[in-house]
Amino acid sequence: EGLQRFVHEALPMRVRFGAGSVSELPEEIDLLGLERVVVLCSPEQTDTAEMVAGILGDRCVGILPHARMHVPRDAATDTRESVERGDAQGCVAVGGGSAVGLGKAIALTTDLPVVALPTTYAGSEMTPIWGLTENGVKRTGRDRRVLPRAVVYDPELTISLPAALSVVSGINAVAHAVEGLYAPDSTPILDLMAAEGTRALLASLPRLVENGTDLSARAEALSGAWLCGAVLGATTMSLHHKICHVLGGMLDLPHAPTHTVVLPHVLAYNAPAGSRAVDAVAGALGGSARPPGDLWTFIGDLGGPRSLRELGMNEGDVAAVAEATVQQSYANPRTVTTSEVGELLHRAWSGAPPA
Ligand code: NAD
Repeated sequence: EGLQRFVHEALPMRVRFGAGSVSELPEEIDLLGLERVVVLCSPEQTDTAEMVAGILGDRCVGILPHARMHVPRDAATDTRESVERGDAQGCVAVGGGSAVGLGKAIALTTDLPVVALPTTYAGSEMTPIWGLTENGVKRTGRDRRVLPRAVVYDPELTISLPAALSVVSGINAVAHAVEGLYAPDSTPILDLMAAEGTRALLASLPRLVENGTDLSARAEALSGAWLCGAVLGATTMSLHHKICHVLGGMLDLPHAPTHTVVLPHVLAYNAPAGSRAVDAVAGALGGSARPPGDLWTFIGDLGGPRSLRELGMNEGDVAAVAEATVQQSYANPRTVTTSEVGELLHRAWSGAPPA
């Protein structure tokens, strides 16, 4: 059938990839002309931040360990004030989506450049998407200013990510690719990236669950996270991300585990209209005949969560979440109704296989 007409715009992005590449971080900081930077991290990752600060030497003027999930506005404001007091010229974000998100929140109001050292597979480092949470409501937006100027992907930094977190983080990345494959603004280039990202993650997750120190599996997973994150950054997400956004904002369910439970169900729901996503998952699973059900089995076999109930959701919340999901408007390859989303959510809540 040949190529369709399309517009493809690549985001400016500099990547340094490879085991041990964190030791070359100073070159990236120097290239950006930065003499004073702060290191941002979650409180649990202060050790990694100290290691990075040691590599930066005099260039590092402080460690700010205030990253938290969904970027609370107060934490962002306090951290920005510390950055300004320290007269820093940029932020080095070490960690998952929470640390990168904190750097983005600061960039949004100050224009200070962010350099990211990802330690999960969330993929936020590849997107111009920021998020801020206040009074239980999470707002997100797109702004080129928050896109990190450089990303250093060092698989050695992901060795400490426990198997359970690796699985949910990896499936969170696959969700970006799946929704990119049926996005209204997908392109043939992005489709290649999404299919390869899905393949790399689904191939590497069993290997790194088996042996978390397998550096080649860790590198393959991180390359998949890069590709899936870039797809997220370049396309419009659909039903899956909307459901997860509502579950996170309304019920405070944990981000990556929620994505992991919901994805097989949305893949099944959108299968009639999203054949490229289904084909990518089928190929990544080595030629699956029932990709949504086989993805659900794959996740369970790796010890991943299968029900929203185990993540803390009450059955009585299903109706309100379905209602809120349908009220917002967004692109989805298949029409969305409250009753169908309610059924999908009830299956996901109970731990049943996808319909
Ligand atoms: P996270 O950053 O909150 O990290 C989860 C936990 O894992 C934290 O306690 C962290 O300290 C720990 N951790 C991270 N890496 C580790 C490692 N290598 N070893 C040991 N522990 C480690 O979780 P996440 O899933 O990476 O990110 C989720 C957040 O990112 C959500 O708020 C989500 O909305 C956001 N997000 C944003 C985008 C975007 O494009 N803006 C994309 C994806 C996710």
